[in-house]
Amino acid sequence: MLEYGIHWFRRDLRVAGNSALKWNWKKNQGRTLGVFFFDSTFLDRPDFSHHRFAFFLETLRELQAELREMGGDLLVLDHGPDAGFEALFKKLHTQLPSCITYNRDYEPFARERDARVSQKIESHGVAVHTERDHLLIEPHELQKEPGVPSFYQIYSPFCRKWLSIIQQDDFQDRLSSQKEALSYLEKRSRGEKIDPFFKLKWKELWSKISSPESPPHNLPSLEDALDSFVEKNQPHVKISIPPAGSRKAYEVLNEFRPRATAYLDQRDFPSVRGTSGLSIYFKNGSITPALVLAGLNLNQFDFKDKSGRTQFLKEIVWREFYYHILYHRPSVEHEAFLPQYRELKWENNEKWFEAWTEGKTGFPIVDAGMRQLKTTGWMHNRVRMIVASFLTKDLLIDWKWGEKYFMNQLLDGDLAPNNGGWQWAASTGCDPQPYFRIFNPLLQSEKFDPKGEYIKKYIPELRGVHADEIHQPGSLYIRPIVDHAVQKEKALSLYRRS
Ligand SMILES: Cc1cc2nc3c(=O)[nH]c(=O)nc-3n(C[C@H](O)[C@H](O)[C@H](O)COP(=O)(O)OP(=O)(O)OC[C@H]3O[C@@H](n4cnc5c(N)ncnc54)[C@H](O)[C@@H]3O)c2cc1C
Repeated sequence: MLEYGIHWFRRDLRVAGNSALKWNWKKNQGRTLGVFFFDSTFLDRPDFSHHRFAFFLETLRELQAELREMGGDLLVLDHGPDAGFEALFKKLHTQLPSCITYNRDYEPFARERDARVSQKIESHGVAVHTERDHLLIEPHELQKEPGVPSFYQIYSPFCRKWLSIIQQDDFQDRLSSQKEALSYLEKRSRGEKIDPFFKLKWKELWSKISSPESPPHNLPSLEDALDSFVEKNQPHVKISIPPAGSRKAYEVLNEFRPRATAYLDQRDFPSVRGTSGLSIYFKNGSITPALVLAGLNLNQFDFKDKSGRTQFLKEIVWREFYYHILYHRPSVEHEAFLPQYRELKWENNEKWFEAWTEGKTGFPIVDAGMRQLKTTGWMHNRVRMIVASFLTKDLLIDWKWGEKYFMNQLLDGDLAPNNGGWQWAASTGCDPQPYFRIFNPLLQSEKFDPKGEYIKKYIPELRGVHADEIHQPGSLYIRPIVDHAVQKEKALSLYRRS
């Protein structure tokens, strides 16, 4: 039988421009099969979210359908990669794949897993090949001083360096090479017929190998587990899950294209559709920064440029910055980046925390944000900053409580930007908001939702209230659980004491 390869999908759930999948496909002349493992350690994590999982499962379903349409296949197994690969290799022993490929991941858990699993795969004599996919510039490529172990801790110099690296030929080539993937996505979104370019399905492979049909006793079964996961998760889903997959992500990008120039002026107003809406698709790799930049023709940049398009790019760089921090300082997952704030004496009032999660603090802009999160699984960035500041500096509650709650609710919940966003707001992180700059929820509300349109959308009780009163509706609404001026002083002294 001819050689074939296996691509291990993780958070790169697409075909278009998938670096490692493409490498595998070339090496094996189209005979590449996909596999996905459900890792129970991941499903048991405290930051697990049924909603995000539902979106993830939909994305996997789209990917499986796409691969099958294109002549390939995806096998979804109910085992972690250690047991899963072991079972696969036992079954395939008469002809192991020529290689396993995957795209690199930067989270501490994933790095440790990948090192361990790669070693096991190689012990079977199977080559492992990895590629970059999730980020444009990987953390190890962006050293502060070449050759010296050092990393950027402040965004602006990081961004300047990032912008200079992206101008280099190999990075520009990487962006140009996305054009092929974009044209594939364009054809798919128009429903044009595309000739299948994968040449092997799992079924054909099973029939070609001579080992028994079912895996040997005491090894996990190799049955596709996608439907059973969907069935088990569905009863826990309380919101409507947006359309998933790379075709949809491409449509979202196209819809954003004409709005990109207005991004700078609109992105801070939560009642306006001023941002791209791409984060949920970045999260599981339905789209990548490389595809987005190529799709928007964003390949020339100037740090000082004040256009909407450059500002959008700078937000993508924030995402890369937080990955950079998590990679170089993995301990941020569990503690403050700044050592002086690791022992802050938070008050952690549970009743206040509950009021915050329920959107019942009596501060309309905060409550609207928290209700948006609960009912849609997403929250506007400006409001994320407001509610995070409110939790930490008005309610004096540990940012880690907020971080975890966000992860339980957000469809785009992602360790690096979520942790970075929380630590920024709590002033405990790298390049943080200084602790003495405390958002005033009333002023933020008046500035960024002047007519109260966003508030009215998520707080029906306030729909009849005039714009002049809506930011501080007094007896027309829930009584505020705290006094901002008093809490601000308490927060200042909390930080000063540490
Ligand atoms: C407390 C807090 C928690 C956050 N948690 C997450 C999270 O779990 N997952 C997540 O993807 N983003 C998170 N963010 C960042 C940001 O709020 C979202 O990325 C953004 O709201 C997503 O909407 P969009 O795709 O329309 O963004 P756009 O404004 O269109 O931005 C384009 C892309 O740039 C990146 N980006 C934008 N703003 C930021 C930022 N401040 N930090 C890092 N990357 C950014 C995202 O990948 C985003 O999709 C958080 C921010 C804060 C303040």
